[in-house]
Amino acid sequence: AQEELVRKEKLAVLGQVAGSVGHELRNPLGVMSNAVYFLQTVLADADQGVKDYLKIIENEISGAERIVSDLLDSVRTKPPQPGAVEVAELIEQTLHKLPIPSSVAVQLDIPAALPPLLVDALQIQQVLRNLVSNSIEAMPNGGALEIRAIADEGGKNVTVSVRDSGCGMTAEQQGKLFQPLFTTKERGIGLGLVVVKNLTQANGGRVEVQSEVGKGTLFSITLPSESSAVAAE
Ligand code: ADP
Ligand code: MG
Repeated sequence: AQEELVRKEKLAVLGQVAGSVGHELRNPLGVMSNAVYFLQTVLADADQGVKDYLKIIENEISGAERIVSDLLDSVRTKPPQPGAVEVAELIEQTLHKLPIPSSVAVQLDIPAALPPLLVDALQIQQVLRNLVSNSIEAMPNGGALEIRAIADEGGKNVTVSVRDSGCGMTAEQQGKLFQPLFTTKERGIGLGLVVVKNLTQANGGRVEVQSEVGKGTLFSITLPSESSAVAAE
C-alpha cells in the first residue's frame, strides 16, 4: 500500500509537469513535421544524401511525438466510454496499426464464441498496442508473438494475453515494471506500462505478468465482458 501511495504521488507530480511540457512540445513538433514534409516535396530532386537527412529528421520527430503522446496519455486518463467490443476485432485493429517486423511470427488464438467485452475500445487498443510493442522490442532478433483470449467460467470476464519469446525480465525488473519512468531501454521512456495499468484498471480490469530471463514474457489483462453488466443489474 505504501508503494502504491508513492506511485500515485509520483504520478501526480509527473502529471503536472508532463501535462504542460507535453502540451508545449506538441505544437513545435507539429510545426517541424509540416516543415519537413514541405522540404521533402520541394527537394524531391535533391541528392540522396539530403533526402537521407530529411528522413532522419522525419523519423526523429515522429519518435519525439510518440514520447509526448505516451507522456500525455499516462497522466491524463480520460474516463472510459465502455461499449460492447468484439475481442477478435479489437486485436485485429490493434495489430493493424503496428509495424510488426517480418522476423516476428504472430500467432492468434481467439475462440469464435467469446463474449464481447464491455470496455472503452480505444483505451484497450492502446493497452494492447503498448504490450505488443514491448514484446516486439524484447525480440530484436525476431521470435514468436502469441495473442490469446479466453473467457472465464460463466463468461463474466475475458483474459487477453500477449506472450513473447523475448529477453524476459529478472524478478527485480518485474518489481519495478509499473513504476513511472522505469525503463531498461536506451531510448525508452518508461511510461508504456503505466498507461497499461491505468487504462486497464479504469476499465474494471487487472494486469498480470509472468516472465523468465532468456525465455520470454507473458502479460495478461483480464477485462469485464458484456455479461458481467447483465449480471450486475
Ligand atoms: P519502455 O518500453 O519505454 O521502456 P514500458 O513501461 O513500456 O517502457 O516498459 C518498462 C520496462 O519493462 C522496459 O524497459 C523493459 O525493461 C520491461 N519490459 C516491458 N515489457 C517487456 C517484455 N515483453 N519483455 C521484456 N521486458 C519487458
Ligand atoms: Mg514500452
